[in-house]
Amino acid sequence: MRAALELARQAAAAGEVPVGAVVVKDGEIVGRGFNAPISRHDPSAHAEMLALRDAAQRLGNYRLVGCELFVTLEPCLMCAGAIMHARIARVVYGASDPKTGACGSVLDAFAELRLNHHAEVAGGVLAEECGLVLSSFFALRRAQQKIGAIDGTTGHSTRQSDNDCQVAGHHESPVPEEPR
Ligand code: ZN
Repeated sequence: MRAALELARQAAAAGEVPVGAVVVKDGEIVGRGFNAPISRHDPSAHAEMLALRDAAQRLGNYRLVGCELFVTLEPCLMCAGAIMHARIARVVYGASDPKTGACGSVLDAFAELRLNHHAEVAGGVLAEECGLVLSSFFALRRAQQKIGAIDGTTGHSTRQSDNDCQVAGHHESPVPEEPR
């Protein structure tokens, strides 16, 4: 999870909502990803998706049997689907996501018995630290937007999509007015 947190910080540095993920096999990291939908112009570029792709490429197999996925934020429905397709054995996440979490917060995809794959899921690991990376990012963004609104240099409104929630959805563009 520490490695996933480091990747989340890389996402923040790139102006992306900070979520990071790693795939682990036999105690070794075989895939890494951080949230990058804005820079990649790709709505599917969540940390988990990129980590799964990275691991599959490295292992030369689209089935990641016996692998674990560590991610700083509860996976959404898209990522839960990809995790199932990849046959990930265990998912460990940090902060819960009350807006898009598909591991129990909004719905629990892994508890759906009609779906044929059931990864073991554990949440709340380093949750405080994982949530803090997100809340710090949003607080900084709010402050920057406020400064922009005052001096009129950016023309950004102070519109907020994340409220004060530390685990706002990573689907939303942090700066919808301008691509980075
Ligand atoms: Zn996702």
